[in-house]
Amino acid sequence: IDFIQALQLEGNKEKKEEQEKSEYRKMRMTIEETKKSLPVYPFREPLIEAIRNYQILIVEGETGSGKTTQIPQYLHEAGFTADDKKIGCTQPRRVAAMSVAARVAQEMNVKLGNEVGYSIRFEDCTSDRTVIKYMTDGTLHREFLSEPDLASYSVMIIDEAHERTLHTDILFGLVKDITRFRPDLKLLISSATLDAEKFSKFFDDAPIFRIPGRRFPVDIYYTKAPEADYVDACVVSVLQIHATQPLGDILVFLTGQEEIETCVEMLQERTKKIGKKLKELIILPVYANLPSDMQAKIFDPTPEGARKVVLATNIAETSLTIDNIIYVIDPGFAKQNNFNSKTGMESLMVVPISKASANQRAGRAGRVAPGKCFRLYTAWAYKYELEENTTPEIQRINLGNAVLTLKALGINDLIHFDFLDPPPHETLVLALEQLYALGALNHHGELTKAGRRMAEFPTDPMLAKMLLASEKYKCSEEIVTIAAMLSVNSSIFYRPKDKIIHADTARKNFFHPKGDHLTLMNIYNQWAETEHSVQWCYENFVQYRSMKRARDVREQLASLMDRVEIEMISGVSDDTSIRKAITAELPRWVIYHELVFTSKEFMRQVTEIESKWLLEVAPHYYKSKELEDSTNKKMPKTVGKSSDTK
Ligand code: ADP
Ligand code: MG
Repeated sequence: IDFIQALQLEGNKEKKEEQEKSEYRKMRMTIEETKKSLPVYPFREPLIEAIRNYQILIVEGETGSGKTTQIPQYLHEAGFTADDKKIGCTQPRRVAAMSVAARVAQEMNVKLGNEVGYSIRFEDCTSDRTVIKYMTDGTLHREFLSEPDLASYSVMIIDEAHERTLHTDILFGLVKDITRFRPDLKLLISSATLDAEKFSKFFDDAPIFRIPGRRFPVDIYYTKAPEADYVDACVVSVLQIHATQPLGDILVFLTGQEEIETCVEMLQERTKKIGKKLKELIILPVYANLPSDMQAKIFDPTPEGARKVVLATNIAETSLTIDNIIYVIDPGFAKQNNFNSKTGMESLMVVPISKASANQRAGRAGRVAPGKCFRLYTAWAYKYELEENTTPEIQRINLGNAVLTLKALGINDLIHFDFLDPPPHETLVLALEQLYALGALNHHGELTKAGRRMAEFPTDPMLAKMLLASEKYKCSEEIVTIAAMLSVNSSIFYRPKDKIIHADTARKNFFHPKGDHLTLMNIYNQWAETEHSVQWCYENFVQYRSMKRARDVREQLASLMDRVEIEMISGVSDDTSIRKAITAELPRWVIYHELVFTSKEFMRQVTEIESKWLLEVAPHYYKSKELEDSTNKKMPKTVGKSSDTK
């Protein structure tokens, strides 16, 4: 009997493998077909020809035409990766870099991280074999530090140029400079909207290659009156579409994780109540902190007879293309970073989008068939209240980090740096002042030794300073832990609605009387003692995912400490030394990691310090008299990075 069973099993296995193979063949077919159906496909040859003929080319095409996923493959096939050279492609968003790399690896039938890989802050998924490398614009910015001529690249694609993030804007100046002394480097600037002329002009009149779009008409609907609660309005709209409109997937634009989760819950509840009367509605969230396997779900084809609704941040505006979207719901808002150079305060607020954004969003409904876009605002508001374009990030955020990297690249004269649009003078001055206060620049504005070491860290200059200061106070292990915990963008704790009291009690158990930084350290250390247990996280209402990320970040930071030759020491120093090292971050009496304005001003991650420590850590900046005088003006204007509101 055993024998027969074994044979049967064998047979089943073979059958299964055969099945898998044919499924795979089917999938291959569809991948090939998809590739050929993209608008960029017919332009493959002329595009490669143009790239051969010109060093710099501006490529413009509708979102979803295949620029990001196809062009690097075409270049690879055309031999641009011979001689061990790579094709680089930058993305403003982490999620996009990962997702697009995964897609291209799948299309090329290779393992992600081998021939096709990605590199984002604190995570490098590439190898020696990598020939197509997607990365965030921030990562490329940092790569300049180790490879100022980008020698390992044959082609660099600055993608999604229209997004005008801070790093992309700075890259424009850097790569333009490089093309002058590396005639063999090809540069593509790729953009979705109509900024092409502006880019062309900046890049010495580089030719523009236009990929004609294939867009179906999109009917736009407005509300008659403004919506008081747009999340609720989204839920109602989704259900109305689902009940009355022909099949076709829905894309909803929300501003962040919290809103998206609320909306998912509301939709789940209400569809459950309606029951089987309606067709199946598959509800899928997508935002930056969602684990990547969950993110990937938005690309799964919708089963026959069902409808998919994707609830997304403006990741889905241009960076990610989801096929078969017919309906778009646009409440007209997005979260935006802003920086007030007078108060030194960063804010992260929900603001109305621009007309350009609204049109991008609507366009997402017309890729495969005529579509509909439901704007949850009035036609009047669209016409008279929305700005034409979104202000580029460089003109509205804190430049500390960017200025430090530029200084480390030897670019001293920032006032005359080749900016596509220059930042406001005050913001630049403030960044210089902040770096001076941190000891990264001397009073001539030149990079100091400390500044050079600080530039090694892909963090805010303040965190970098804290890491350096840990050397003196002999608490590098502790500080690396704190820095890693501060760098985790998602929240550490969770509070399930039915267990709020338990969750809050668990949280209180970690409290350190001297402040949040030490509390964070407590949490990490206790978790580490359990050998990074999932169960422990579960019992303490701690997010396992955030902790895992903290561990990865910690590892990266520790290796950077090695690079700047700081020994990892722990257990030598007391709380006071640790707090002194934190004080090197600079604000006084209490140290806050972030000062954010959401509904009101919030200091986040606060630690109590003594004012005289400031003299000790920054004698060049603070004089004892100033510290005694509580009304003095030398309130450090340094603030941390702003992040999600919670
Ligand atoms: P563009 O850069 O011009 O906006 P993309 O190259 O990003 O266009 O997208 C082209 C096509 O690739 C999309 O229509 C979509 O079908 C497909 N695609 C992109 N990313 C993924 C993914 N992660 N999974 C499945 N399909 C994808
Ligand atoms: Mg793209």
